[in-house]
Amino acid sequence: MTVTVAKSAGFCFGVRRAVNIVEKLLDEGKKVYTLGPIIHNGNMVEELASKGVRIADSPDDVKNGETLVIRSHGVPKNITDRIDELKIDFRNATCPFVMKIHKIVAEHSSLGEIILIAGDKDHPEVRGIVGHCVSEYHTYTDCSELNEIIEKFPHIKNERVCVVAQTTFDVAEWKKTLKILQKVCTNAKIFDTICSATSDRQSEAGLLASKSDLMLVIGGKHSSNTNKLFKICKDKCRETYLIESAKELPLVAVQKANRIGITAGASTPASIIKEVLVTMTEEIKNNTEENKTEPSEFEALLEESFKNYNTDGRVHGVVVGVTPTEVQVDVGRKQTGIIPLDELSNDPTAKPEDLVSVGDELDLVIMKTNDQEGTVLLSKKRFDSQKGWDAIVKAEEEKTIVKGVVNEVVKGGVIALTNGIRVFIPASQATASRGENLENLLKKEVSFRIIEVTRQRRRAVGSIRSVLNDERKKKAEEFWESAEVGKKYTGVVKSLTSYGAFVDIGGIDGMIHISELSWSRIKHPSEVVNVGDTVEVYIKSLDREKGKISLGYKKDEDNPWEILKNNYPVGTECEVEIVGLTQFGAFAKIIAGIDGLIHVSQISNERVEKPEDVLSIGQKVKVKITAVDFENKRISLSMKAVLNDNAEEETAE
Ligand code: SF4
Repeated sequence: MTVTVAKSAGFCFGVRRAVNIVEKLLDEGKKVYTLGPIIHNGNMVEELASKGVRIADSPDDVKNGETLVIRSHGVPKNITDRIDELKIDFRNATCPFVMKIHKIVAEHSSLGEIILIAGDKDHPEVRGIVGHCVSEYHTYTDCSELNEIIEKFPHIKNERVCVVAQTTFDVAEWKKTLKILQKVCTNAKIFDTICSATSDRQSEAGLLASKSDLMLVIGGKHSSNTNKLFKICKDKCRETYLIESAKELPLVAVQKANRIGITAGASTPASIIKEVLVTMTEEIKNNTEENKTEPSEFEALLEESFKNYNTDGRVHGVVVGVTPTEVQVDVGRKQTGIIPLDELSNDPTAKPEDLVSVGDELDLVIMKTNDQEGTVLLSKKRFDSQKGWDAIVKAEEEKTIVKGVVNEVVKGGVIALTNGIRVFIPASQATASRGENLENLLKKEVSFRIIEVTRQRRRAVGSIRSVLNDERKKKAEEFWESAEVGKKYTGVVKSLTSYGAFVDIGGIDGMIHISELSWSRIKHPSEVVNVGDTVEVYIKSLDREKGKISLGYKKDEDNPWEILKNNYPVGTECEVEIVGLTQFGAFAKIIAGIDGLIHVSQISNERVEKPEDVLSIGQKVKVKITAVDFENKRISLSMKAVLNDNAEEETAE
C-alpha cells in the first residue's frame, strides 16, 4: 500500500496569514471578532471559538476595545468605509492576491469598462470584488452562463470589457470561457487572477487522483476550493471522498485500497490532515490480519509522505518593513520574518530600499526559526539561486536558450551570469569562429545553451556558438528562399585568397572571383578590397545543391570598353604608356584595363628594326587611335599618324 499526501495540501499563504493574524491578536490578549468565519473550515472555527474568537456579521457588532479581523476573502468597499467611519480597531487579513483584484476592478470600472467576473456570485470573495465595481458588472461560473450573459446583454460585444477571475476558479473552465470571450469581445482586457496556489493545488490533485485508486479530499463542505478539488479528483478517480475530518474516513474503502492519495483544501489546517493520517494508521494496525502491509511499514510510509507536506523550506511573504540592514517580511506565521542584508542579494553594494518595497511579495527560503525570539530568518538570495539553478537544469534538459551577461574572461573561456548562476563558456564555444577576442564579450548580454550540468557541484557549461550556428542556419534558409541571380546585397569582406574574396552577405558567404573584382588585370584581390570592407555586390550565379554563391562586384559604368567607346573614338589623339614590347610592335595602356598595339610600322616615319630600339617600358608617347575592334577587343594605335598630322599642320601654316 502507498499513501501520498499532495505537497500543496492544506493552508495556502493567504489563509495561513489570516489565521496567524488572529492567533497573534489572541496572544496579545485582544478580544477578537472576525467578519464572518475566518476560514471555511468548521473545525478550525470551533477551535478559535474555544479561544474566545467571535464572529461578527457586520462592523456595527463590534464595540470599543474589541478588534475586528477582515478575513482573507476580502470585503466590499462599503464595509471598509463603514469600519473607518466607526473608527474600529481592525486588522485587514485580505489576501494580497485578492486585494490585487479589488485594485484591478476599481481602476477599470472607474474608466467605465464593463467588469466580467468568473466566479460564484454568492462566494464572499466574489461579493467583495463586486463591491469594488463602480460600473456595470456580470458574474458567471461556466461557459453556458457566460453565453447567456452575452446573449442577454449584446452591447458587451462592442464595449470595453475587463475580465477577472475568483482566485479559486477552476483553471480548465477559465480557459474555456476565455476562448468564448476572445472571439466575442476582441478588445477584452483579461487578467488571469487565479491564484497559483489554487492552480498548483488543482493540477497536483488531478495528477495524484489519476495515479490513485482511492482519493481523500479533506476540507470544509462549504469551501469553494475544496469542492472544486473534489470535482477534479472525482473525474480522475471514481473512489474519491470529501471528508471534513478523520471521523468521516471511509474505513472499509481505505482498507481495500492499494494506492491512496490525499489532498486538502486551502482552509484545511495541517492538524486535521495529520489527524486523518494517524486515524488511518490506527485503523490499519487494528486490521493487520486483513491487510498485507505491515503496520510499521505503513507508519513509515505515512511519516515519509507527511514529511513532504509543506516542509520544503520555502515560503511566500509580503514585505512589511525595510531598514538599511534588514527587510521584515510577513510570511503568514506567528514569528516575524527577517531577511538580513547579506541574504537579500548577491550584490554586496546593493541597498535594501533599492531592491524591495513595502507590499512586495517575495519567495524565500527559511534558514532558521527562533521561537524564543519569535523570528524566522529568511533568505531571498538562496531562493533566487535555487530558482536560477532549477532554470539552468531545465534549460539543459529542454535545450532552450538562456540569456546572461559576460562578467569575466577567465583562463580558457568566459563566465556568464544568468539568474544569479555562473555559467562557464569555453573559448571554443564562446564565438562563431576560433581566435576571436574574448574581451569583446565583456559586459555584453549573450544568448547561449547549457550543454553540460554537474548537479552535485552545481556547475554548468554553456555554448554561445551553438546559438550562433542556429542563427546562421536560419539566416541561410531565409537567404536561399529569396535568393535570385541579379539580386543586390551589401556585404562585409571576411577573407581573401589568391583567387578571390569571400563576402558575408548576411549570414551566408559568397565569393567574388578575382576576375570579377576589377575590369583591369590584378594580381591579388587585396589590390581592390580588404578584410572588413563593406561592399555592394550582386548574385552572378547560384548553385543551390552545393550551396555556392558567385558574386559580381565590378560595375558596368566602370567597364573600360564603355569608357573607350564614349570618350576615345577612332581618330582620337592621346598620350599612352608603353607596357609591353614585342618584335611586331609595342603594347600601350590607353586607360586602365585597355591596351592598344602600336605596330612596328606605325612607330616612326623612319624604318624601325625592333620596337625596343626606339621605345622602352614606362615611356609615355603620343598616339592616334586608328582602329577599334570591339568584338575581338583589339585597338590599333599609330605614333606615325600623329607625326604626319603634325607635319601637315606645319605645312598648312
Ligand atoms: S487561495 Fe490564493 S488567493 Fe486565496 S487566500 Fe489562498 S493564497 Fe490568497
